Amino acid sequence: MRAARTAAFLVLLGTLPARGQEVDARAMAAIREEGSTRSQVIALAQALTDRFGARVTNSSSFHAASDWAVTRLREWGVQDPRREHWGPWSRAGWTQELEFARVVSPSAFPLQVTGSAWSIGTHGRMRGQVVRMQLAGSQDLSPWRGRLAGRWVMLGPLAPSRLHFEPGATRLSADALAALEHPRARPREDASVWASESAMTVSDVVRSMVARCTAITEFLVRERAIGLLVPSTGQAGLVGAGGSSCASPFAESGSAPEYQPGKPTIPVLLLASEGAGRLDRLLASGTRVVVEGELGVTLVPPLGYSTNVVGEIPGRDTGKRGEVVMLGAHLDSWQVGTGATDNGVNVAVVLEAMRILRAVGLPMRRTVRVALWSGEEQGLLGSSAYVKAHFAPGSPEAGRLALYLNLDNGAGAIRGLYAQGNSAAGDIFRQWMVPLRDLGMTTVSPSRTGATDHVPFDRAGLPGFQFIQDPLEYWTLTHHTSADSWERAVPTDLVRNAIILASLAYDAANADEMIARPTASP
Ligand SMILES: [Zn+2]
Repeated sequence: MRAARTAAFLVLLGTLPARGQEVDARAMAAIREEGSTRSQVIALAQALTDRFGARVTNSSSFHAASDWAVTRLREWGVQDPRREHWGPWSRAGWTQELEFARVVSPSAFPLQVTGSAWSIGTHGRMRGQVVRMQLAGSQDLSPWRGRLAGRWVMLGPLAPSRLHFEPGATRLSADALAALEHPRARPREDASVWASESAMTVSDVVRSMVARCTAITEFLVRERAIGLLVPSTGQAGLVGAGGSSCASPFAESGSAPEYQPGKPTIPVLLLASEGAGRLDRLLASGTRVVVEGELGVTLVPPLGYSTNVVGEIPGRDTGKRGEVVMLGAHLDSWQVGTGATDNGVNVAVVLEAMRILRAVGLPMRRTVRVALWSGEEQGLLGSSAYVKAHFAPGSPEAGRLALYLNLDNGAGAIRGLYAQGNSAAGDIFRQWMVPLRDLGMTTVSPSRTGATDHVPFDRAGLPGFQFIQDPLEYWTLTHHTSADSWERAVPTDLVRNAIILASLAYDAANADEMIARPTASP
């Protein structure tokens, strides 16, 4: 059966395109063989998600997962695997050890909670009455003076509750894929906002949010409140990584509730929407509510930098080995779930693609480099720093990047690529995809997509691209929620995705030409 399938596959390959960008049939078969019969992607994904779990940048699990990835790469004979420093990164190492909350009265019920990223911990289990702080844009905190000592403060609007009339998990239909083929005008994402940590804080909106949160936090500290209870974005019993006010969404802006050495702050617990709604309604009805909560965290003083994991399979062609094909996915995640669909399983796929290329041992003309980014959730920080350090516009290295492929669109099967308005690249991808059609990769969308690590490449005029993937439950369930775990991934999708990624990397490494640079945005 396998021999017949491979034969059919070789016949299919026989129909491949003309010289220059052709696909090497035997290599494709070898990659497919290795990736399907000796796949390690499931074990890699489970190690990342089950053993290390959530990997907030510079948390202890992030460091452990980074070292683990370097060891794997070394084991497979990838050259010079290492953790490359980048900065500035001024945040502490933050690891959540314990998060708990329950309502004690008027009746006892549990609350699904998580600590807000970089929140300080409580001093053990803290019990106190809850006060609903409605600020409604008012800057005036004085009405609350003298009313908050020893109390939990519930702050921020409830996330709008939404019923799911759409199916929970979806795969892209033929119609949906066809629709992607038709360009949607979308401006190039302005990465300058993401380019450096300091740039983020200059935008007026963010600055005013920071000032407001600082004022609220200092007031709550002075009033000796126990901590903040903030409605999260999570629905249906899930806790979201972000809160509706003065919580995680502002973390990248260094807002006050976040731990900063020497600055007094207050613990922040994020609530699932059901718990937040029940508390809100009880308090609005004038009912006295008492909550018991605890947040245990380990805080390590800021290092001033974070790291990206990198490594290479050197090219063998003297003329081309200085040129680089890069594969990347962000290793960091938010603090909820185990960071599986965002983005642990894609890190496993990228690692597996490197393993496959090493295992088949076929000569590649160009060098293939892997990058596992950090700081993505805080604004594409690791990849932005990498592009700045290695591919500054006009630098010799920039001229030698043949292609960057990014995997960060949920755990679903790869169905195609966004060509970022680069039609020349789109044409090449269509050729390389011919032998991958039976794996479900059929579509090149001329459109741009954003919000992840190919953007700093694209913005620097480099050929950086993101994959089209089946959404599965990414937007309906797992994206930045406590449901983001291994159970939401489909193992066969990961096996195929690794074969696809290794095949495309091989094609790009052996093509006569590098992928054309993006032309100026329309
Ligand atoms: Zn992501």
